[in-house]
Amino acid sequence: MLLGLGVVYDFPKYSIFQRGLIQVLNIKVEKAKELKQKPDFNNLGFGTDFTDHMFMMNYTEGQGWHDPRIVPYGPITLDPSAMVLHYAQEMFEGMKAYKTEDGRALLFRPEKNIQRTNVTNDRLCIPKINEEDMLQAIKALVSVEKDWIPTASGTSLYIRPFIFATDPFLGVRASATYLFMIILSPVGAYYKGGINPVKIWVETEYVRAVKGGVGYAKTGGNYAASIKAQMKAKERGYAQVLWLDGVERKYVEEVGTMNVFFKIDGEVITPALEGSILPGITRNSVIELLHSWGISVTERKLSIDEIYEAAEKGTLEEAYGTGTAAVISPIGQLNYNGKIITINDGKIGELSQRIYDTVTGIQTGAAEDSFNWTVEVE
Ligand SMILES: *Cc1c(COP(=O)(O)O)cnc(C)c1O
Repeated sequence: MLLGLGVVYDFPKYSIFQRGLIQVLNIKVEKAKELKQKPDFNNLGFGTDFTDHMFMMNYTEGQGWHDPRIVPYGPITLDPSAMVLHYAQEMFEGMKAYKTEDGRALLFRPEKNIQRTNVTNDRLCIPKINEEDMLQAIKALVSVEKDWIPTASGTSLYIRPFIFATDPFLGVRASATYLFMIILSPVGAYYKGGINPVKIWVETEYVRAVKGGVGYAKTGGNYAASIKAQMKAKERGYAQVLWLDGVERKYVEEVGTMNVFFKIDGEVITPALEGSILPGITRNSVIELLHSWGISVTERKLSIDEIYEAAEKGTLEEAYGTGTAAVISPIGQLNYNGKIITINDGKIGELSQRIYDTVTGIQTGAAEDSFNWTVEVE
């Protein structure tokens, strides 16, 4: 890549023509003067190391999104009255880039993250972002930082796009200015020594989201609201929380920050998306994959009582969470009001393992991508 040291210049490779008008997105690239010492790629955590560069683009009412640029990674200045710090008008996304055996960089269904960005933006009154522009921004940054994609099994380059309100103002309304950024972080394998099913605390006091709220949007406020229950579960020796609906505390919604699936008597069930659940891309991929295998998936309300009754009858076969970080996280045990049930003897289920192997195979280019889910970054 022909990037001059410390020089600012146009990057014509990422010029694009959009909306039928001749409108060109020229991403300026300012290369870091000094590159960082890379962390030990065989010993990576999650979200602790960041690459040499980041993407930034501003929004100003009347002018739209402007000044797309790749700059050295580093702190930003923000007015203390910036609206995001007070009223949390912000959004984020989470996706990954994977290195194939032959050294190519692959994204997994990036168009889905981009479409979801605009769904979140709409709910948070953040201006929409042109889908093509966002894809080009992600590709441009990953392309610059290709050397940061780790190659060991299970590792990847985590991509975090986010947008936040920057108006210096303490009144409550939608901001007129925003910053869109993308940062990258090399992350280690979610499972270090094989997939271990986790113990889950069924939360009956706190709730994550309610219909009519922002549960279906990927926004920080949902996470801030979830920490208390997460801490409660941790203190009791549980890895995560199983969230119940906010009205009746009866129907399962999500597990931690993942979507959740149960296999009962041969039927795969996942809660229907009715406004309080985040529409996961992994969730969608698992549903499509199961359909392609001739396994039907039911999206419906599923009560915690139905799950416990199935466990009693011996028909609760498998349970797992789905999300970008882990792909599949099997549930080995549930504790609901002190009643403990163990699922599949605390071992990963056959179907869970098959889904995990197939999805990770497609993501890393090891398995055939018959769905056309991967997008290569040049
Ligand atoms: C991001 C997220 C998920 C998983 O979505 P993926 O697109 O599969 O990574 C599930 N639940 C919540 C609350 C999330 O924020």
